[in-house]
Amino acid sequence: MAATLTLGIIKPDAIASGKTGVIVAHLQQAGFVPRAARMVRLSRAEAGAFYAVHRGRPFYADLVEFMTSGPCLPVALERDDAVAHLRTVIGATDPAEAAPGTVRKLFAESKGKNAIHASDSVENAAREVAFFFTEGELAGLWGRE
Ligand code: GDP
Repeated sequence: MAATLTLGIIKPDAIASGKTGVIVAHLQQAGFVPRAARMVRLSRAEAGAFYAVHRGRPFYADLVEFMTSGPCLPVALERDDAVAHLRTVIGATDPAEAAPGTVRKLFAESKGKNAIHASDSVENAAREVAFFFTEGELAGLWGRE
């Protein structure tokens, strides 16, 4: 199957607790190749735009608050069937319900502070990768455009 891209975000809780490296290593062990990554501190407007599909949900305000509470690390990840595989590798939203060996079971604190984001569909992956990275960055051409 052809290599495809999805978006992961190492969330502020995992960055703050020093888990960035071990989570990226876990993703690489699972066959993902990082194609672009950047440490960012999202503004409220940026976090709100990224999570616009969740506007109106009861946890939306908490989610925006949390995602702007510190730096996070969006990573464009490549492998075959990337979207479905990354969803499996991160585990259920609530770490208490996540399967053994998943990123959230191993590294997340709670349903809100759950260490990692992963795109939930091929359409959203395309939108979310483009939210953070240009075509040039994805091709490894930073500084040459
Ligand atoms: P995901 O696709 O597994 O990340 O889960 P969702 O799309 O349902 O929710 C997006 C994000 O919102 C989750 O990863 C959590 O960070 C947050 N979230 C979801 N449900 C809750 C909740 O009940 N409480 C809080 N505080 N945050 C939540």
